[in-house]
Amino acid sequence: MSKVVKFGGSSLADAKQFQKVGDIIRADEERHFVVVSAPGKRSGSDTKVTDMLYSTYALAEEGKDFGKELAAIEARYNEIIKGLKLKLSLKEEFEKIEKNFKAKAGSDYAASRGEYLNGIVMSAYLGFEFIDPAEVVLFDDDGTFDAEITNRRVAKRLAGMKNAVISGFYGAYENGKIKTFSRGGSDITGSIVARAIHADVYENWTDVSGFLVADPRIIDRPQPIETITYTELRELAYMGASVLHEDAIFPVRKEGIPINIRNTNRPDDSGTWIVESTAKKSSYTITGIAGKKGFCCVNILKDMMNSEVGFVRKVLQAFEDQDISIEHVPSGIDTMTVFVAQDEFIDKEQAVVSEIHRLAKPDLLEIESDLALIAVVGRGMKRQRGTAARIFSALAHVNVNCRMIDQGSSELNIIIGVENRDFEKAIKAIYDIFVVTQL
Ligand code: ASP
Repeated sequence: MSKVVKFGGSSLADAKQFQKVGDIIRADEERHFVVVSAPGKRSGSDTKVTDMLYSTYALAEEGKDFGKELAAIEARYNEIIKGLKLKLSLKEEFEKIEKNFKAKAGSDYAASRGEYLNGIVMSAYLGFEFIDPAEVVLFDDDGTFDAEITNRRVAKRLAGMKNAVISGFYGAYENGKIKTFSRGGSDITGSIVARAIHADVYENWTDVSGFLVADPRIIDRPQPIETITYTELRELAYMGASVLHEDAIFPVRKEGIPINIRNTNRPDDSGTWIVESTAKKSSYTITGIAGKKGFCCVNILKDMMNSEVGFVRKVLQAFEDQDISIEHVPSGIDTMTVFVAQDEFIDKEQAVVSEIHRLAKPDLLEIESDLALIAVVGRGMKRQRGTAARIFSALAHVNVNCRMIDQGSSELNIIIGVENRDFEKAIKAIYDIFVVTQL
């Protein structure tokens, strides 16, 4: 068995957290390859090292003095090094960073130093070899991540090695210039390494014990999700459930490697398993509920719409031309509705409206705003009768009016549109009917 373990920023925020990580790695000798983030927040009001690096570099770019700010970052690492009683000095590294900041090496370079330095500290602490991902994680000239070449390079670099520490979050263009993934991207690096070594498990250690059935800001102490499939997770993540970077499932998915989300502060919790497919039933009919506020819908009516070939395409063309992505398109006989994110749509709405008129010549068009979408997701809903009925009777019971209903043919989710102001009430009602009543 071989495991890749990735630790997030809060798991590496200070020396005490590093020690917990060391205990976790030493507790299981199958934990061979370690991917690290930059030090995160030590408390609620603290600043992540990545954010410190971005703001320090912004000063450098404006030609302002950034000595004090860079020294504060160095102090964060020195505090960790001292707490772990390591014989390690990052003095030369910081001199190099200062020089490169002055030479305007780029904000990606700046941000990547958080993971780079933390990788050096972790490798000294564990006694594992350090690998700089700039050597192996490749971005093409247009900035897209090159999954296949990276996979080959990582596999080659790690071949025959028992242990290593690899920094997360960044790689480089072929010419060596550093490029980062989007924020939270160390999750992707962990997944890349797991794929390359054909790991049995990719353990992603963070500060929560996995995914919860619903958002804890809405539901008081929601139940954890034990097992979730990649596709269920995609649906929930799209609707705002965030524990793992959205793109982190793709590399491991290619190899069918499960991801286990674990909590560094509660290492005995089994966490959530993210798998390709499973015979395990979720504890409730549904696996999870997630949602987002802030949608608009454009309602379009035209007599005989259903017999006009190409009508829907013409309407959607108007959105595409304005570069607006579409969320849902429920339709009736002579009506159709297009759901879009309000902040993306608002500045372009009149351009879209006039183009719809020009292309599709509707009889009536109206826009509604301040809507929320809620996704009720679960592999257990398939071929199960009564799920939709339970959702809608729960909503009716708490006086929530359902503005839109969309069930995909996969029967993996039911999406419901409600008014923004009913959002929390609706989620509570759905959670109650599927989870609380089953406890
Ligand atoms: N340190 C980076 C961030 O704060 C990347 C990561 O933690 O995954 O976004």
